[in-house]
Amino acid sequence: MIRDPEHETMPRPELEKLQLERLKVKVREVYDRVPFYRRAFKEKGVTPDDIQTLADLTKLPFTSKLDFRDNYPYGLMAVPLEQAVRIHSSSGTTGKPIIVPYTQGDVDTWAEVMARTLATAGTTKDDVLQNAYGYGLFTGGLGFHDGAERLGALVIPTSSGNTKRQILLLQDLGTTVITCTPSYALILHETARDMGIDLRDTRLRLGVLGAEPWSEQMREDIEERLGIMAINVYGLTEVIGPGVSVECPHKCGMHIAEDHFLVEAIDPETGEQLPYGEAGELVVTTLTKEAQPVIRFRTRDIISLNPEPCECGRTMVRMSRVTGRSDDMLIVRGVNVFPSQIESVLLDVEGVEPHYLIVVDRQHAFKSDELEIWVEVSEGVFSDEMQKMEGLEKRLRSEMDSVLGIAARIKLVEPRTIERTEGKAKRVIDRSEL
Ligand code: AMP
Ligand code: ZN
Repeated sequence: MIRDPEHETMPRPELEKLQLERLKVKVREVYDRVPFYRRAFKEKGVTPDDIQTLADLTKLPFTSKLDFRDNYPYGLMAVPLEQAVRIHSSSGTTGKPIIVPYTQGDVDTWAEVMARTLATAGTTKDDVLQNAYGYGLFTGGLGFHDGAERLGALVIPTSSGNTKRQILLLQDLGTTVITCTPSYALILHETARDMGIDLRDTRLRLGVLGAEPWSEQMREDIEERLGIMAINVYGLTEVIGPGVSVECPHKCGMHIAEDHFLVEAIDPETGEQLPYGEAGELVVTTLTKEAQPVIRFRTRDIISLNPEPCECGRTMVRMSRVTGRSDDMLIVRGVNVFPSQIESVLLDVEGVEPHYLIVVDRQHAFKSDELEIWVEVSEGVFSDEMQKMEGLEKRLRSEMDSVLGIAARIKLVEPRTIERTEGKAKRVIDRSEL
C-alpha cells in the first residue's frame, strides 16, 4: 500500500523542486548555526547563496564519520540542546561513539518515515509485528517501534535476544511480521527447529530485515527456511537510523525516502559524482532533520542508483543492495575482495549453512596475504566420510577461485560451531583475534 501517495508518487520534476527548496533552507541553517559547517564551507569557498540548483550540491563539502567524532558530542547540532528530546548512538569505527540527537519534530518525522517504510514493505495496520531489533541506543529498536505504532500495527517489543521466548511469543501471539537483522532471522529459525517448531507452520509471513549486509542468496535461504517474504531495509544512525530506503514487494531495489534524503553516488577515490546506474559510494544530505542536519555524508556503502519508475507506482529513486562498504573491502594479495562476494558463492553451494567466517591476517588495515574461509556444513552432509567432505571442500575452493580471482583456503567446520550474534553479524575477523 502507498501510504503517502503525494510524496511517494510525485512526478520527479516536482520532487526535485521540493528537494531544492528544502536543501536551500538546510544549507542556510547549518551555515548560520554550526561552526563546523561554516568553516568547511569557507574552506571550499562556498556560501548558501551558491546553491541555486540541485547540481550545485557538488559545490558543498563532504562530511564523514570522522567529523562526528571530532565534534563529539554536541558540536554538530543546529538547535540548542534544550530542544532535543532523544539521543541515539552508534559505535564508531574507532574511539568515541557517534551521537545523534533528535528534536520532537525529528522523532515525529522519523515515525512517519518508518510507518511509510513498513507499509512499502507490505505491512498493514492489521499485522502483529514482532520487533527483534535491539532497543536502546541503537536506532533499530525504537525506530521500527515508533513506525509500526504509527502505522497502527500491533507491536511486540521483544528486542533482540532471549530467542526461545521470542519463538513462544511468535507462536502464541500470532506474529505475522518479524523485524530484525537477517542473521537474527536465521537464529530464530535454528532455535525454533531445536524446539521442534517449524516457523513455516506459524502465521509469520513477512520479514523486514536489514542493518547489515546480506546477499540475494541469503534472502532465498531465509525465505525458504522461515516461509516468509524477506524485504531489505536500509538506514544509518548519522542520518536518522532505519528508514532511508526499503524495498517494495517487487524486490527490485530499495526506494529512497527522497523527500527527506537527497542522495548521490560518488567515486570513493576522487569524490566525483557518478551518473545513475554506476556503482559508487552513497552520499546522503538530510532535507528535514532539525537537531543535527547532515550535509553530504559519506556513508562508505557501495551501491548504485536507479531512477526508473517502479511497477509499484513509486517515483522515488531505488538503490541497489549494498554490495560492500569501502572500509569492508579486503585486499588479498593485491586483489579487492568484498565479503558479499564470498557469501554469494557459499550460499550457492548445496550442503553449506549460511554461517561463515572470513579469517584474515591483517598486516595493514585491509590488507592480508592469506584468506581463509570457515564454512559450516549442513547436518545432513556433515560426515566422517573423508571423501564426501573433501569433495565439498574442493568444490568451494574452485568456485571461490573463479569468482574472487584468488585462491582461498576453505575450512569446513561442524554444524553450529560458528558463533551466532543477535545483532549485526561479524563475519570478518583477524587471526590475532582468534
Ligand atoms: P548503524 O548506524 O549502526 O545502524 O549502521 C549503519 C550501517 O549498517 C550502514 O552504513 C550499512 O553499512 C549497514 N547497513 C544497514 N542496513 C543495511 C542493509 N540493508 N544492507 C547492507 N548494509 C546495511
Ligand atoms: Zn517499488
